[in-house]
Amino acid sequence: MLERVPLLEKELVDFTDVVGGATVERIRELAEPFRGARVLHINATAYGGGVAELLATHVPLLRSLGIDAEWQVMQGSDEFFSITKHVHNALQGADIEWTTSMQRTYLERVLDNALALGDGWDYVVVHDPQPAALLSFLRDKKIGRATTKWIWRCHIDLTAANPEVWEFFRPFVEQHDASVWTMPEFVPDSLNMARVVHAPPCIDPLSVKNLELAMPFCTEITKQYGIDPHRPIVCQVSRFDPWKDPVGVLEAFQIVRRQIPDAQLVLAGSMATDDPEGFRVWEAVEAARGGDRNIHLLSNLHQVGAVQINAFQRMASVMVQKSLREGFGLTVSEALWKGRPVVGGRAGGITLQIREGYDGYLVDSVEECASRIIDLLADPVGSEAMGAQGREHVRDNFLCTRELADWLTLFGRLGNDEPRSATRS
Ligand code: UDP
Repeated sequence: MLERVPLLEKELVDFTDVVGGATVERIRELAEPFRGARVLHINATAYGGGVAELLATHVPLLRSLGIDAEWQVMQGSDEFFSITKHVHNALQGADIEWTTSMQRTYLERVLDNALALGDGWDYVVVHDPQPAALLSFLRDKKIGRATTKWIWRCHIDLTAANPEVWEFFRPFVEQHDASVWTMPEFVPDSLNMARVVHAPPCIDPLSVKNLELAMPFCTEITKQYGIDPHRPIVCQVSRFDPWKDPVGVLEAFQIVRRQIPDAQLVLAGSMATDDPEGFRVWEAVEAARGGDRNIHLLSNLHQVGAVQINAFQRMASVMVQKSLREGFGLTVSEALWKGRPVVGGRAGGITLQIREGYDGYLVDSVEECASRIIDLLADPVGSEAMGAQGREHVRDNFLCTRELADWLTLFGRLGNDEPRSATRS
């Protein structure tokens, strides 16, 4: 067995106040045929980044519906994660050298994981490229296609994927029974699969990251980090990753400060175990900060966890997600759910979440980012209205209950003829 991630308990019924009883009832009906079915989600890391965030809610909710769901993480090594980070970058469009030695290390490590995987699953969902080749080592086993439906969930924007790296992964992906993508635009034309599904990720409104917090509490938290709660706060929450463009945010903020001298910037970013690039990017941002005390560079190494992120997002006058490429960008929905307007890079899933001029603004450059931040800081009433619209947009489209219904519908299609749970003793 791979390493099993410990889960919190969650109950679907608790979401009734947020999404309404009819939605909860519909999900229950969708789940009924899958009572007792065994579902395994596999990804590369138990914390840090959006996939971990999603699974921490999705898997407990499957369990609350009587489905025997688990989340397990791959065992890697520094070398493996460094290679898969290169793969991630290449699939988002970076030019990398994809050597045979990298391919060998990748496949050897996936083989080790395949050998460790237990069987007896009805559905296995593998997330992103790290575990994408698992099924190729298991095809002739019981857990291969004979008794288990395999689904590949791609969280990455592949519109400009490096062709060599994508062609390496494509045959592995195509062995799956279905693939799930955040946006239709992300699916490469070359992908030859019968079942290709589009379903954006979502946030958990009741998680510690998103639940309501009293403003005095948020004020105290920000103070603890040396941030002045009475001055305007501009904030970006994201891993320290070049695609999230933290240096670009910092440059935009320096322009903002010329017009709004009391503004402060908070860059909060966690370090993920499968992301060795993080520490290098952190140093680049620290250098660009040049000791400016109005720019707060914070991470999980400063005990910045879900509560602090929640508080920073609530205290911000403007949230920023200036990504250059973005699979989805959960941080955008997180901010909108808290009624904050968002200035986002015109990239991938951010364009699904920000409706230009309604929930915030989409930008293509440092200068545009600065000018939109200035507009929003200068217009608190308009900002509030945008935030309120954004919250409803998230309620309608980007909450975990919608995602739950999407997955149950897909399971239903895949196991159409005979619900697997009915065949189990
Ligand atoms: N996050 C966090 N602490 C940080 C930075 C990020 O908890 O210091 C969370 C953030 O709130 C969001 C997730 O990590 O829930 C990032 O997901 P997103 O889809 O925005 O980006 P990804 O990291 O998956 O590219």
